Amino acid sequence: MIPYGCQNISQEDIDAVVEVLRSEFITQGPVVPEFEKVIVSYTGAAHAVAVNSATSALHISCLALEVGPGDLVWTSPITFVASANCARYCGADVDFVDIDPSTYNLSVPCLVEKLEQAERNGCLPKVVITVHFSGQSCDMEAIHALSIEYGFRVIEDASHAIGGSYKNEKVGSCRYSDITVFSFHPVKIITTGEGGMAVTNDLALAKRMARLRSHGITRYPAEMTCQPDGPWYYQQIELGFNYRMTDIQAALGISQMHRLDEFVTQRHAIAQHYEELLQEIPVIRPWQHPDTYSGFHLYIIRLHTVALKACHRTIFERMRAHGIGVNLHYIPVYRQPYYQKMGFSQDDFPEAERYYSEAITLPIYPSLNPQQQGEIVHRLLNPLGYQTIF
Ligand SMILES: *Cc1c(COP(=O)(O)O)cnc(C)c1O
Repeated sequence: MIPYGCQNISQEDIDAVVEVLRSEFITQGPVVPEFEKVIVSYTGAAHAVAVNSATSALHISCLALEVGPGDLVWTSPITFVASANCARYCGADVDFVDIDPSTYNLSVPCLVEKLEQAERNGCLPKVVITVHFSGQSCDMEAIHALSIEYGFRVIEDASHAIGGSYKNEKVGSCRYSDITVFSFHPVKIITTGEGGMAVTNDLALAKRMARLRSHGITRYPAEMTCQPDGPWYYQQIELGFNYRMTDIQAALGISQMHRLDEFVTQRHAIAQHYEELLQEIPVIRPWQHPDTYSGFHLYIIRLHTVALKACHRTIFERMRAHGIGVNLHYIPVYRQPYYQKMGFSQDDFPEAERYYSEAITLPIYPSLNPQQQGEIVHRLLNPLGYQTIF
């Protein structure tokens, strides 16, 4: 089976992990802050907090922004459920903003319309979580301007987008947001096995997130309610979690960061080759906004099923039957039974619905070769019907 995504582990990665295993610390020790420094210097953000997943990073980001019961958090419906669940962990309500028909990111015109309506009804969101879908940044400058006008905070879910850029700055610079979150799950662009990171330019947010990742405990006298009782002393200030990353993971992360730009370049070359192979096939190829350089976590096409003479599901099944691990990113979050209970209607998200009926994720990862890409594109076509360049 050709998977849709796959990690790339080198001998250097293995050596880096083994070195930690032979050292004094294997849980959060000196390598975690080193990894945080690497991410800070790459993204240009001022602070980074490494955690055990992007889901955890999203959770503590929401908590640091004081999301709680009675608050509203908005995000895109075409994302992994974690982008919405983080608000639910905090007891807040979730709503969705329909997607842009070209980038599949949260649509700025839909956001404007929804904000105007929410202002009239007195139910503005506290936080908007923008998802850089497939690796392409959202229109952050416009969203930032709206955040000032309407008084909401912004979290960038950049789980797909490390290594990408927006207006010539790396995704994660946080120029237009409060916090940016990365995922290091093995299907993503770089991996630490499981892992995530929150970056921010706000020192207070960074300190709060660092405390929340480790039980809400501080060892800094300045954050304590009284003078320390002695050198053993720490205080639990609030209810936190064990969301720590290990040094084993951080060592893998640092080593993977050496090849991040190479990975993204390889992903672009694969996307370019698909672009050529799909030229005369009735599908919509991924559109790239000129302000963005994608991380290309995903390569998604939309099928003209009439011209292809097969329905979405048939094409999907045929490709899977031929060992091609196509996927569908994602089932709109409001369609999940857990969210259905909250009364969402599919009629409110026409673009997300259209997308869901046509999209298919083709495999993309650094070691995918042009021959495999040829095979993948060949299997898209109905053997009895549509004839094209083959
Ligand atoms: C993968 C992913 C997450 C969750 O990442 P984990 O590190 O697995 O917790 C969150 N949001 C999006 C958009 C993702 O793709």
